[in-house]
Amino acid sequence: MRPDEREVAGLTCAQVMHALSDYAEGDAPAELRAQIEAHVAGCRQCEQFGAAFAALLAGMRRQLAAPDVVDDDVVARVRRALIASAS
Ligand SMILES: [Zn+2]
Repeated sequence: MRPDEREVAGLTCAQVMHALSDYAEGDAPAELRAQIEAHVAGCRQCEQFGAAFAALLAGMRRQLAAPDVVDDDVVARVRRALIASAS
């Protein structure tokens, strides 16, 4: 365990980091979710990291949900250019 690692609620910081994406996606089992929440509540380091991670994830979701900015005409022209360069 690294010197800045802590064990809170039966999880180390590394275990929390490892489980964080499952937690954020809602894939973590209820027992693990409760442990992560208890760890983050008692560990300032993971609390800060968790907040940054959640913000990053929310930003990525917004990007993915954004409408397609490339219109069909551009796609058609790129496709023609690719076909022309391949032949
Ligand atoms: Zn921690």
